[in-house]
Amino acid sequence: MEQIKILIVEDEPVLALDLASKLRKLDYEIIDIVSTGEVAINLVQQTQPDLIFMDIKLKGAIDGIETATQILQSKDIPIIYLTACADEETVERAEHTGCYGYMIKPCKQIELSANIKIVLKKHKELAKAKISISKSNKSRSVAVQESNYNLITQLPNRLDLQAKFTQISSQYTKLNDFKTAAIIYLNVDRFYRVNNNLGHEYGNLLLQQIAQRLQTLLRDDVLIAHLNADEFALVFLGIENRQQILEHISQVIQKFNQPFGLDRREIFVTSSMGVAVYPWDSTEIEQLLQKAYQAMSQAKQQGGNQYNFYQATVEEEESDLLALETDLRYALDRQELQLHYQPQISLKTGKIVGAEALIRWYHPHQGIIYPATFIPLAEQTGLISAIGEWVLAQACQQMKIWQLQNLDIDRIAVNLSARQFNQTNLGKTLIKILKKTQLDSHCLELELTESTLVADLDLTIRQLNTLKSLGVKISVDDFGTGYSSFSYLQNFPFDILKIDRSFIKDIGTNPKNAAITKALIEMAHQLNLKVIAEGVETNTELNFLVKNRCDEVQGYFFSPPLSVKEFEQLLQEHNIVEKIPDCQIVFE
Ligand code: C2E
Ligand code: MG
Ligand code: MG
Repeated sequence: MEQIKILIVEDEPVLALDLASKLRKLDYEIIDIVSTGEVAINLVQQTQPDLIFMDIKLKGAIDGIETATQILQSKDIPIIYLTACADEETVERAEHTGCYGYMIKPCKQIELSANIKIVLKKHKELAKAKISISKSNKSRSVAVQESNYNLITQLPNRLDLQAKFTQISSQYTKLNDFKTAAIIYLNVDRFYRVNNNLGHEYGNLLLQQIAQRLQTLLRDDVLIAHLNADEFALVFLGIENRQQILEHISQVIQKFNQPFGLDRREIFVTSSMGVAVYPWDSTEIEQLLQKAYQAMSQAKQQGGNQYNFYQATVEEEESDLLALETDLRYALDRQELQLHYQPQISLKTGKIVGAEALIRWYHPHQGIIYPATFIPLAEQTGLISAIGEWVLAQACQQMKIWQLQNLDIDRIAVNLSARQFNQTNLGKTLIKILKKTQLDSHCLELELTESTLVADLDLTIRQLNTLKSLGVKISVDDFGTGYSSFSYLQNFPFDILKIDRSFIKDIGTNPKNAAITKALIEMAHQLNLKVIAEGVETNTELNFLVKNRCDEVQGYFFSPPLSVKEFEQLLQEHNIVEKIPDCQIVFE
């Protein structure tokens, strides 16, 4: 494929070079970087870039918007504006030039990648539409309308869906949000029969009625698109579990329960659906649609009138993993790994007393990848040793920096995977890191899961003793999801018990979870263990934990995992305590 050529018009050299380097990493060719509008206009007469990044505020006589206006008079080149801050007046002026979008500087690589793809596609579509319109003499505004909507049903089309979804998902990524979305690909069963037997007008009428019914499902968190002929897509955002997806599907199926009226006839139609789930099946809308399509085709092959979730074939799964594994080998060197920190709050004082370090991988093409995806891969390939050591060193160093800045918290918690824990040189590695970072070992907490501990009991005891002799604290992570053997709680030298989120969820309404959590807290206290509740999301859950004397909590109710900068801000604000309900007085 030919490389896309980009011209950068930007008068701040640092920003320009940064942008150029990010674009080159994405495999785009930079034809030039220029700093004034005049030079840009001249250059565009001699070369033909495929895309221009245009700073709005330029130093020369004319600004970016004026430059763009002049360029667009003679050339048809998509332009993306760069702004430091977008005030309304500027945005409005920019809009009048028929621009393709703005990006706030400095641009992130993943956003660049998504935006460029959309812009180039939009430009291509628009060019096509223009040709057909110049033939039929329609106005340009109709072209824009047509390029985003399906003419038969007036529903947004594939392009529009792609743009909207990409924007939403990049927002998720930016906010480090864990939202899931279901992408449903819907195909009308045996649509061709309506078309063949009753004619295209009736076919169109049917599509319009289907569109109308589907539109009744529209809400803020639902996107609907008419992809082509008899195919629609529905996207449900903010999904929390599979049950919710099934409920949405059942609502869609219900829309087909009543007959459709075509002239004086009534006909029943059914549909086949395929479901792909963001971000698990992919983070890119194109791929999600393709996977949902694949699932839908299977539903069709099985007779239609049913739905199917996308499942990667063994080969696909293996090839995806293989590619990811290769990338993971470079991730450390390329500094794509980052630690985020989630605060742990004492319910006695309302203060942030600890932080759990949680790793994230900023993949250059796939965006954020969460540890659930790549830690198992790192374990299988042995890369976990290097990554684990990096995490330990990084977390200890960060903790030391916070201490030196008087941003005091008591502990920093690091997750250890099974393979790491079983490494015989774990003790040595730890000593080396503690020495290098000069962190007091009492401030370091290592989180181990139950399954790690029960694999080889002799080794476990030896390793735990080594760790204890160094002075680090040990916590049992995700307690309750594994073996939950109370005897090892008694016999192993633990300091902290972390109750898994699955028990905390719905604690107010689920009596079983409430009873288990209550019992776990009591038992842990009997054994002199501190208890942390994981995944606290609601006030009700928090109230229950305060009442039942849980020591500390961690969860979205207070804060998701944060970047270093954000975490430091939170430490400085000290406003956490305001979220603690009155009943904390019990502890005073
Ligand atoms: P974990 O140790 O149980 O970490 C808690 C997970 O729950 C984190 O997910 C966290 O972001 C998430 N979480 C926190 N509060 C809430 C909440 O209120 N609601 C919900 N739904 N989730 C919440 P994350 O960061 O994706 O990590 C997943 C797992 O990956 C961790 O589970 C841990 O076992 C592992 N992991 C993370 N970082 C590392 C690492 O550096 N090394 C190793 N070996 N494993 C790691
Ligand atoms: Mg953990
Ligand atoms: Mg956990």
